[in-house]
Amino acid sequence: LIYLDHHATTPCDRRVAAVVQRMLLEDYGNASSQHRFGQSAADAVHSAAETIAQALAAQATELVFTSGATESNSLALLGVCQHPRQKRRKIVTAVTEHPAVLDPIRRLEADGFVVERIAPYPQSDPNVGQVDEEAILNAIDDQTAVVSVMLANNEIGTIQPLRRVAEKCHQVGALLHCDATQAVGRIPVSVVDLDVDLLSASAHKFYGPKGVGLLYIRQTGRRVRIRPQIEGGGQQRGLRSGTLNVPGIVGMGEALKWAVEEMDTATLRIAGLRQRLWDRLKSGIPELVLNGPSIADANTSISPTDSVLRRLHGNLNVMFPRVEGEALMTTVPTVACSSGSACSSVDPAPSHVLMAIGCNESQARSSLRFGIGRPTTEQQTDEAADRLLDAFHRLRQMV
Ligand code: PMP
Repeated sequence: LIYLDHHATTPCDRRVAAVVQRMLLEDYGNASSQHRFGQSAADAVHSAAETIAQALAAQATELVFTSGATESNSLALLGVCQHPRQKRRKIVTAVTEHPAVLDPIRRLEADGFVVERIAPYPQSDPNVGQVDEEAILNAIDDQTAVVSVMLANNEIGTIQPLRRVAEKCHQVGALLHCDATQAVGRIPVSVVDLDVDLLSASAHKFYGPKGVGLLYIRQTGRRVRIRPQIEGGGQQRGLRSGTLNVPGIVGMGEALKWAVEEMDTATLRIAGLRQRLWDRLKSGIPELVLNGPSIADANTSISPTDSVLRRLHGNLNVMFPRVEGEALMTTVPTVACSSGSACSSVDPAPSHVLMAIGCNESQARSSLRFGIGRPTTEQQTDEAADRLLDAFHRLRQMV
């Protein structure tokens, strides 16, 4: 079995699992309890918060721990828009966002918010997948409560520059939320450099445990008012009640520490494997099409360094001409990747991201997403490519 689906999730790093296990078995106090067990758990959470804050250039008090990025996105978007003192009634976002952003926004729209969804540049543009900058800058105005744009796309890996969007938001007093779930732990993320007000992340995307994530809420300068979505014991300054997931939070801190420490070497190695996978597939199927931002290729002038600035280094999304992605996946059950449709394979619709960059329905259905990760080896990428090529040629003979 070869795992090439690191955008869906990553395995927990063994060093992280060891720390989580210790918290589960030995340091199991409730971080709100007064006694020593509670104090020890609270100290561990505090220290994880410091590590995470430092990695993101935030303050520990600006972090709220959640069950993952889905909850963080809801807390950010519903929290800002449903605050009783929120007077603005407009939301600006991108067509290519994850459902965890699109769905809460759809709910707000049903409640009366006006929503503008900005399309990305198409496949023919060098900035394919990024939101159309002029369009988004024009859409943001003094009625805009929040703008939500992701940092790295989970399907085609596009890395979104946010500087001008942040500038415009702050000129007109709108808040900027960024779903950085695919970016945190993979590329450098600084809330200061990005100048965002809210930022979501999930630990299982950077070799931490599942079911734990964070929302950064800016505390310096502009006031960010959030209406809590989960109420109860008043933990986390009342913003997110519920007993803290101490093992998860501590595991997330440990995972982010390693991800940051090993980022440079991992990036180079993974980008090399991505290139290797693409080259091998392309040499077996000359009509193969790359969906999303260019990577180095005989036909492009993109250097390997350029390609990791525009596209997540582990991401490869390819269209197999005249073969359904789903069919390829079932023919090669030993290679774990993902069909074009979003992270949730519950949704049988063709990928809204691929359609937004100009694929037609059949092209979107012929596409597969690969996510190379830290544990992936050269041998695995070669083997995966060979199995896919073999299946592709067999399927093509059948049609
Ligand atoms: N946003 C993006 C961009 C994602 O890729 C994901 C995970 N597929 C999420 C949000 C949701 O994360 P989680 O499932 O951990 O809540």
